[in-house]
Amino acid sequence: MSGDHTGENAALAARVRHVEALLEARGLVDAQELDRALEAFLARASPDNGARVVARAWLDPAYRARLLADGAAAVTEVGATMGGGLQDQRLKVVENTATSHNVVVCTLCSCYPVALLGPSPTWYKSESYRSRVVRDPRSVLAEFDFHLPPDVDITVWDATAETRFMVLPVRPADTDSLDERALADLVTRNGLIGVAPV
Ligand code: FE
Repeated sequence: MSGDHTGENAALAARVRHVEALLEARGLVDAQELDRALEAFLARASPDNGARVVARAWLDPAYRARLLADGAAAVTEVGATMGGGLQDQRLKVVENTATSHNVVVCTLCSCYPVALLGPSPTWYKSESYRSRVVRDPRSVLAEFDFHLPPDVDITVWDATAETRFMVLPVRPADTDSLDERALADLVTRNGLIGVAPV
């Protein structure tokens, strides 16, 4: 249940603070250095990172294959990183097709690839989204004014502290003339979560 998970997170945070205090006491790092590292990480965290990854994957089939095989390694090729926080995270990129669609949630709390999508929206953390998108994704997507045909299968991916998910949307039609930057500009944060087409 969410209460237990929150308790786990609190316990983990307390352990991290304890280790930080030990490191500080031994003069190995100081709190300001940790703050600077965290600030730098958050300053780089933006949905533009995810959008650039998607645009590259649309244009380069070999990159797309690497991205689907090992997301965390592939995002470094466009200058993004899943590290930089307190721990490295696995990234699983899930690809939409004409017949299958993917949506991301964290049913327990709010796990989310911040480095690639920026800070998570309030609704992503809401009890309403977390509980309902698993049971009835089609209705939840409709509330985002995103109406999928009945013959499209929907898979809902439940994120954890160790594994984060990002959706690779279908490239829109009539975009053959666009370059990588212009393609990236089409991609939205909600598309990377799976609650918008792109
Ligand atoms: Fe979570």
